[in-house]
Amino acid sequence: MRSKPAVKGLKPTLAPGLYLVATPIGNLLDLTLRAIETLQGVDVIACEDTRVTSKILTRHSIKTKMNTYHEHNASRIRPRLLRTLEIGGSIALVSDAGTPTISDPGYKLVKECIECGFDITTIPGANAAITGLVLSGLPTNRFLFAGFLNSKASQRRHELEELAGVPTTLIFYESAKRLPSTLTDMVKKLGDRPAAIARELTKRHEEIRRNTLSALTAHYQNAGPPKGEIVIIVGPPLKKEPPLSSELDDLIMKQLQTLSVRDTAAKITLETGLSKRHVYNRTLKLSKA
Ligand code: SAM
Repeated sequence: MRSKPAVKGLKPTLAPGLYLVATPIGNLLDLTLRAIETLQGVDVIACEDTRVTSKILTRHSIKTKMNTYHEHNASRIRPRLLRTLEIGGSIALVSDAGTPTISDPGYKLVKECIECGFDITTIPGANAAITGLVLSGLPTNRFLFAGFLNSKASQRRHELEELAGVPTTLIFYESAKRLPSTLTDMVKKLGDRPAAIARELTKRHEEIRRNTLSALTAHYQNAGPPKGEIVIIVGPPLKKEPPLSSELDDLIMKQLQTLSVRDTAAKITLETGLSKRHVYNRTLKLSKA
């Protein structure tokens, strides 16, 4: 999947296959040299919206033909793209912004290319989640990318409950409009953790607001939803003081009313951070008392 070195005035020849090309998330200069060379060299660029991608192509004087590939036409267009690969063509897949397939179309195309044995590679580059994370000042050693939460409030709360026990930094994409209500739910379901709102990354009005979830909620409830694109980064669960043994017994007894010994022990271990063996032994003892 290596292109020949670019020759002035000539299209570089690319090996057949699928090239997943990351594009800027705001600043049009955030396109790598290899991305430019690849977009120039492929037979066709599959993109979500030709109007969006043509801005990038025009900025870099790239004249390659574009075809749309988005969530509404993907199942119809995918066989055509696979046929192009079958006859030895080269395709660059781009999304409107950032890394294709990350909260954007492309996953099924990648999967089917792998199943068909076609060559596939990526030209890495901008991604809003990682850009927001590195600017957040929150732990970067372990993180979970949660993408977009469900837009329905009840589903969103359920998803947050599922994520509450994950012992890492969490990264979410969110629409600016929903930011105040999502932050309100986060305080309730994740606790008042340190967090950051990364807005308009790499653009003229880039802004990072770092504070606790409750302070950020108060800010956006007062100020109203911000403008632009948003990444929410939430720090790992706060370390709790271990409960006293009498408190632990109360917690266990309460859960044992509805859960089995095993499930009670697992839940309390997660909630308290105490050793699994200690909690299990105590739960077993109390269940027999
Ligand atoms: N594929 C993209 C990537 O690699 O980051 C993500 C596409 S997803 C459809 C769009 C979401 O990404 C936006 O709603 C926002 O949450 C986030 N996003 C994209 N660009 C951003 C930017 N410049 N600043 C902050 N968030 C951004």
